[in-house]
Amino acid sequence: MVDIKSYVKLFNYHGMNLPLNSSEKDLVDDCPFCGAVGKFSLNQKKSTWRCFTCDCKGNSYGFLVKWHEHCLAKTTDEQYEEFAKQRGLNPEILIQFELAWDDQNRCWLVPIYRINEHNKRTLINLKTYRVNQDGTKEFFGTPYCSQGLFNQPALNENHSPVFVCEGEWDAMALLSCDLSEFNNAVVVAVPGANTFKDEWVELFAGRSVYLLYDNDHAGPPGIRIATEKLASASILPSVYALAWPDGSPKDIRDFVIAKGPKATIEMLKDNLHEVLLENPERVQRESWSSVIDDFRKLYHVDYSFADAATVVAATLLSGKLPGDPLWVFLVGPPSTSKTTICDAFAFDQQHCESLSKLTSKALISGWKIPGSDDDVSIFPLLKNRTLLIKDYTAVMSLGSGVQEELYGILRDCYDGRVKVTYGNGKTCDYNDVYFSLVAAVTDEIRRDNRSALGERFLKCEVIGEDYDPMALTLAALNSVVKDATRTRNLQLLGCSIRNYLNSVYINPNNLPTLPEKYRTSLSALSLVIGYLRATVGRSHDDLEFRSRPEGGGRVVKQLSKLGLCLCLLLKKPEFDKEVYRLVKKVALDTIKSFQLELAQLLSLHPKGLTTSQIQHRLQLPKTTAQRVVSDLQTLGVISRQKTSNRHGTGRPEDNWQLTPKFLQFWNDAELTPPKKKLANA
Ligand SMILES: [Zn+2]
Repeated sequence: MVDIKSYVKLFNYHGMNLPLNSSEKDLVDDCPFCGAVGKFSLNQKKSTWRCFTCDCKGNSYGFLVKWHEHCLAKTTDEQYEEFAKQRGLNPEILIQFELAWDDQNRCWLVPIYRINEHNKRTLINLKTYRVNQDGTKEFFGTPYCSQGLFNQPALNENHSPVFVCEGEWDAMALLSCDLSEFNNAVVVAVPGANTFKDEWVELFAGRSVYLLYDNDHAGPPGIRIATEKLASASILPSVYALAWPDGSPKDIRDFVIAKGPKATIEMLKDNLHEVLLENPERVQRESWSSVIDDFRKLYHVDYSFADAATVVAATLLSGKLPGDPLWVFLVGPPSTSKTTICDAFAFDQQHCESLSKLTSKALISGWKIPGSDDDVSIFPLLKNRTLLIKDYTAVMSLGSGVQEELYGILRDCYDGRVKVTYGNGKTCDYNDVYFSLVAAVTDEIRRDNRSALGERFLKCEVIGEDYDPMALTLAALNSVVKDATRTRNLQLLGCSIRNYLNSVYINPNNLPTLPEKYRTSLSALSLVIGYLRATVGRSHDDLEFRSRPEGGGRVVKQLSKLGLCLCLLLKKPEFDKEVYRLVKKVALDTIKSFQLELAQLLSLHPKGLTTSQIQHRLQLPKTTAQRVVSDLQTLGVISRQKTSNRHGTGRPEDNWQLTPKFLQFWNDAELTPPKKKLANA
């Protein structure tokens, strides 16, 4: 069944102006081929078209073929020369691949062909490359067309080795090099690093396959996707991946432009490494700690890295349980392991959908695949899965209007109902779109603590107080080397996480239990959070009203859900000490603040401290210390007792202690820190 609307878009994409929502039997416009006014007619029912003047006719692909031919015939040698210069390519290659200048729409057309089952070359997509007035470049497929493998027909001709480039331009650049040293290998291109279609696999069976993916973050996962697919070929190919030498530009075309064709071939000869194909489905870990060992093969894993990875994995599981999903910020200074952890989990594509940056566009329309006519929103994809956002920090520097729009969408997401209005006026209601969320962010987020989103997120610090910056930096240095072993280990890690999470058996009628002891601790912990993150309303220095701590209701739900997911992840039948340790860590990370530090300090000094002692121990400016003290006093966390000055002379100083009520919660939650950590601070 032809979806007529997206069918019409195919024509309009190439400059026609057919009405999208017409109920007429025939949609009419001027003929793009002969120019006859109002003579081109598209029959909505039969989805065929014809021009009553020049008598051209056909179906959608017929239109693309005809339009391509029409433009191709008019493209001049000068235009090829000029464009080749612009793109750093050889003009003969542009002619060989039948690129055509579309003068009407001011863009270049790149035809994508395949050999069909009757052994005929057929056009499957007509991509457009356009340089906008502001210099930005666009390269998209025609809507309604499927994505193809560039230069696929060449694969049907022989069984030579094959280079797989990421994108058509890289393939064309490589073809300008002398490939005789590679047995005159065929060069094809996938449309993007993430795309390797099942239907292409057999074309590579038994060949030597050289994967030349871009020198960027999408390259290694792309290689993993391709090798996983290639492992299912009827005759296993020999697969080699390019490990870019240091200082290389971002892709093959740039390398050819910068270093020339000869140096490109030399570089390829030296830097292609074999990737061992093995069926990764077999990677099966018995315990979460052995998955953490797989992380160790790739990253510097200290205890806080392991804790953070464990919390993220538990968050992934939360999507499989009913009720509110878990949303977690991974917090750390720039260039620490928070992004690394997100990257690692992004390899588990079954449970995760990864976004590098969060924008409302990415949530609503960023998922549209050029040429497809699928739902344009990410939401249907996210159901019961986890959205990973590698850089949430950027959100905080957005303009307040944009930020509010985004927060509005996120609040709706958290509640499971999103209503989206698209640019074309169409609205979509997505109900029941519960998904969990993990976002990497810097300490900037602490500033944002009181925003309306704040309480929806738990926070997890990725580095401990005593982390080893040298070890972390050295590990980052080592990870620059992308050899075949590393590629293999990344692939293994993704499978290891995925298969382990799939092995976690969730029986809704027999979930891990929460013993009475931890029931009390969790409630107390939630109340402590309520006290310590309450907002004290101030105008200048005056209190505006008597602030009260928030109730523990929402937090206790989040923390117990986290605990439950940790029990499931660690395959424990009930909540125990280790699970509580992690829950407590996340709880304290969530409210990390001077308020928390003060409560911790006073819990170690039952006899109380004076304001100046507090200022000194916490190393805070006087006004900050006074404000923190005043906040906690207002909230009923601490109380004042006049004592005589210890030196016996002068004005007595205020002495601050935790109130008995708060101290009770604090002790029930087992929060007093180990003495040596803070006592000498
Ligand atoms: Zn015509």
